[in-house]
Amino acid sequence: MATRFAGKTAIVSGGARGQGAAEARMLVEEGARVVIGDILEREGMALAADLGDKARFVPLDVTKEEDWRRVVATAQDLGPVRCLINNAGIFTLKPIIETEAALFEQYMRVNQLGVFLGMKASFAAMKAAGGGAMVNISSVAGLHGLPNGIAYASTKWAVRGMSKVAAAEFGPSNIRVNSVHPGLVDTEMTAFIAKDQREAYTKELPLRRRTTIEEVAKCVLYLLSDDAATITGAEVKIDSGSLL
Ligand code: NAD
Repeated sequence: MATRFAGKTAIVSGGARGQGAAEARMLVEEGARVVIGDILEREGMALAADLGDKARFVPLDVTKEEDWRRVVATAQDLGPVRCLINNAGIFTLKPIIETEAALFEQYMRVNQLGVFLGMKASFAAMKAAGGGAMVNISSVAGLHGLPNGIAYASTKWAVRGMSKVAAAEFGPSNIRVNSVHPGLVDTEMTAFIAKDQREAYTKELPLRRRTTIEEVAKCVLYLLSDDAATITGAEVKIDSGSLL
């Protein structure tokens, strides 16, 4: 069994299902202790129970600073906090002229403010542990002008930019920060996209296949691991070549 994360504690926001759950599971398999934070309490608790005594679930609304403080405190109880995955997110598609200001603000709060608060809350613990790595989950929508994606894409562009700011600020504390940009991945988030639309998209991909949650998790774990010791401020696209 791989032990790249033995002796390390990781925090995964939005870890109750989907990509975050795959990352939490893989981290535990590779020796980490993991705090799963999510607004989905039932799913998060079930996952933590399934992962055993190396995992804890803590209710987390990423827009709330006090929730983040509880998550980080629980992680510190488990051991030195060395990894953070800012994975929680929400997604919808709406034309600009139909996007209400309230919806736009909600996206900024969850997808952008949530990532900022996660990095801010974890910094001191990670620095005290001697350093670590953060991965912020953006999207290919943070790399191009996604039509009907004004609320989502603008926040994912922000995640990409904030990751570089944090990489510059946190580097001297031996903390690396990178962003990961998946293409279409089959999760609850994208279940509303019709099967024929998914297939049409997939047929156009250079690799003719979509990326799985496990494949995203392997990419994220690589960036969190010491194998990526000098990679910081990078934007890693994992999209079967959708944007070339
Ligand atoms: P998902 O909907 O299965 O998972 C998102 C998780 O975030 C859920 O568990 C949800 O409860 C949680 N969450 C939402 N709001 C929250 C809040 N305020 N506080 C805490 N947790 C909250 O979808 P997923 O595909 O696993 O998404 C994971 C990340 O990947 C997201 O940031 C998403 O934008 C990004 N992404 C997804 C795709 C895709 O095609 N699925 C593509 C590119 C990027």
